[in-house]
Amino acid sequence: MKHKTIKIMITLLLCGVFFLTSCAPAAPVSGSLEAMDTFMNLTLYSDSESLEKLTSEIKRLDSLLSATDSESSVYKLNNNREIEGEGELADLLSETLRLCESTNGALDITVGQVVEAWGFISRDYRIPDSSELEGLLRNVDYHGVEVGENGRITLSEGTKIDLGAVAKGYAADRCTQLMDENGVESALLNLGGTVCARGVKPDGGQWKIGIADPSQPADYVGYFTCADKVVATSGSYERYFVGEDGRTYCHIINPADGYPSDNGIVSVTVISGSGLLSDALSTALFVMGEEKAEEYQKAHPDFDCIILTDKKEAIVSGGIADSFTLGSGSDYKIIRR
Ligand code: ADP
Ligand code: MG
Repeated sequence: MKHKTIKIMITLLLCGVFFLTSCAPAAPVSGSLEAMDTFMNLTLYSDSESLEKLTSEIKRLDSLLSATDSESSVYKLNNNREIEGEGELADLLSETLRLCESTNGALDITVGQVVEAWGFISRDYRIPDSSELEGLLRNVDYHGVEVGENGRITLSEGTKIDLGAVAKGYAADRCTQLMDENGVESALLNLGGTVCARGVKPDGGQWKIGIADPSQPADYVGYFTCADKVVATSGSYERYFVGEDGRTYCHIINPADGYPSDNGIVSVTVISGSGLLSDALSTALFVMGEEKAEEYQKAHPDFDCIILTDKKEAIVSGGIADSFTLGSGSDYKIIRR
């Protein structure tokens, strides 16, 4: 390997050829940041200027989409029930509302007040009683969000939005667009569990993506390879608490009853060319449960998914079934669908 590199360098020198600008640099540039309530890590096979552009874009989106930052457009919308001239937010909402509809409300961006009642935003965890949940559920319905002309968005009385389920996916899409514009051909962005695998690795191979083991998130159940995809995972292990009743409650809420999703699924990974789609569907399929999630995937073959269940099954859809491999020592069983 070393000999080959030296040989290539000598050949280039002899030919007097210097690819100073056209060659992708061998060494990557990396950076990390805290945004969207999580830790992000960006590795680009490009220059530091592109890295800076991506970093400031993610920060911009964080301040646009945060439900808790009093300066953000989402915060202002939630408090004033209407906002105008917000073209970007309006477009994002239109697309997200289409996904709420197609998932039959398993994804519902108005569920935030219920998420808050369980303490998942303040981290002051508690179990709300059924009458409190009943009251809050009256305001959970994405039909209460209306997107009009010229970036005008209105909320019906009591409705508030929370884009926590899709913000990182949208950020991945914006980063992809910036990388298109700046000629970045190879990068791996980990936006707090939503991974944007840009192009292929500099050696031409595909990116290898691990699926965390929900019972030991530092370990992998298995991995697969992909190129030019956004991979989003929703896992019950990401944020949860154990109640006084000894039960475990996770941060993904079933909008139908206001309770943390508890249907045997412990993690859903969605792989597609769109960050928004992957992120939205990882949350929605988690809520749907195994059977409905499989039905949905069969009816919408524009994405692949890996569903982990509490029975230690890894249910893998067709498009990546061949590339998914169990990690050594993993006690999961692969079911290819
Ligand atoms: P993570 O943010 O941990 O990567 P998700 O993408 O699944 O996981 O998003 C979960 C977040 O989305 C929650 O923290 C909450 O704010 C919000 N949320 C929870 N349940 C739903 C739901 N059914 N529909 C829409 N948003 C949800
Ligand atoms: Mg999601």
